[in-house]
Amino acid sequence: MSRFLTAFTVILFALGVSVRAQESKATLRAGAAASVITPPLGEPIVGGFTPFPAEHIHDELHARCLVLDDGKTKLALVVCDLLGLHRSVAVEAKSLIEKELGIPGSHVVISGTHTHSATNALYGEVRTYSSDIELTDYQRFVARRIADGVRRAVNLLRPAEIAFGHIDVPDHVFNRRWYLKEGTMPMNPFGKTDEKVKMNPGAGADNLIEPAGPIDPRVSFLVLREPGGKIISLYSAYSLHYVGGVGQAHVSADYYGYYSKAVERLLGSEKQDPPVVAMMANGTSGDINNINFRQPRGRKEPYEQMQFVADDLAAKVTAAVPALEWKTEAALDARYRELDVKWRTIPDDLLQWARETEANAPRIGDKAVLPLAYAGRVQRLAKASPETKLPVHLLKIGEVCIGTTPCETFAETGMEFREKSPFKHSFMVELVAGYYGYMPTPRHFELGGYETWPGTNNLEPQASVKVMDALLEMAGEMAPGK
Ligand SMILES: [Zn+2]
Repeated sequence: MSRFLTAFTVILFALGVSVRAQESKATLRAGAAASVITPPLGEPIVGGFTPFPAEHIHDELHARCLVLDDGKTKLALVVCDLLGLHRSVAVEAKSLIEKELGIPGSHVVISGTHTHSATNALYGEVRTYSSDIELTDYQRFVARRIADGVRRAVNLLRPAEIAFGHIDVPDHVFNRRWYLKEGTMPMNPFGKTDEKVKMNPGAGADNLIEPAGPIDPRVSFLVLREPGGKIISLYSAYSLHYVGGVGQAHVSADYYGYYSKAVERLLGSEKQDPPVVAMMANGTSGDINNINFRQPRGRKEPYEQMQFVADDLAAKVTAAVPALEWKTEAALDARYRELDVKWRTIPDDLLQWARETEANAPRIGDKAVLPLAYAGRVQRLAKASPETKLPVHLLKIGEVCIGTTPCETFAETGMEFREKSPFKHSFMVELVAGYYGYMPTPRHFELGGYETWPGTNNLEPQASVKVMDALLEMAGEMAPGK
């Protein structure tokens, strides 16, 4: 009897050891896939002030999906070639993913790149300020294709090594908010000339003094490869609004599409199955674009500049890959919150201005386009749904932390997060899980300019502070050693 018990104990002990050995060997797994989300022609292109129907597809739009699995937890990162996506589109995609794959919505980070040559995934049929909308057919299609892309990435999960890298590429990023010489500030749509900064002043104009904020030159990237060396995916983020310069009424993924294809080619995708999936998320680029305001702009052919930017970034990022330090493990975790950030309040005199502007528009003629657009936005903002349900995610990928916002976020916010986060490596991705307009820091509300106008900015002036506090609190909860 006792001998039997001893033998039994030995067997149990051996089993326990083998289970533990298997656990410690449980390596990271990764899989990636890209879903086409190109809209039908005729869908409204929404990059400018007045939407117009798409007449041509220059290059297909994608939802590029990466899934990571540490044996206990799965995370999904999705980058869509869209100007942005409404909270309800993200909610629909996340609920499909949760139902079909068991990955909770908190662990699924879906972002728009901010290509201005995509169709409407960020408002309902009419532009309202509401945290919940009825989806259009195209928006349902996008949500379905995101969920299918994540499912295909899960199908392709395989043992993986991970590396984090970053390089600085200041060449392509310029702050677009400028102090102007006294007396040269043009009138804004609200009839005021008392603002301190101008967005997109004339490039090379002689009334420019200096930019009102920094640039963030950092490209942050995560690379996944099979233990034999074949690349699975490269996920990156850079704080560049977009490049633009497309053909008339064209649908295009802008530089994000060219970059992804170039990285895939440079990392050997053509020779392998499944292919490499590369993606470029938008960092924090609310006040950053690709225009060098110090000199006049030269003329370029359509697509020339975006291809130039994409090829340069792809060459520099892929050149940094061979020197990266690879790890076979990365503990995964995620946090998600919907913040009680308020919509911007519309004072009575502003509402009065909006009503009068709209009523008098026929007498103002062509020049009323901008004031009329803001008169409409101001009146709709005054009727915003009670809650914003402002969504923010925090992902932990080993020593790397990704914080997200659903806004066009300023470069200095991303830099502040990187500096204050308790993780070894941190970066931010914007336009995640919803679209809530620009989010200037309180300092910038004092300066004024396009990004602070009601209807461009839709949230209370303290929004960026509340988002930062929430992100740092969540980062503190998950930091290594906690
Ligand atoms: Zn924008």
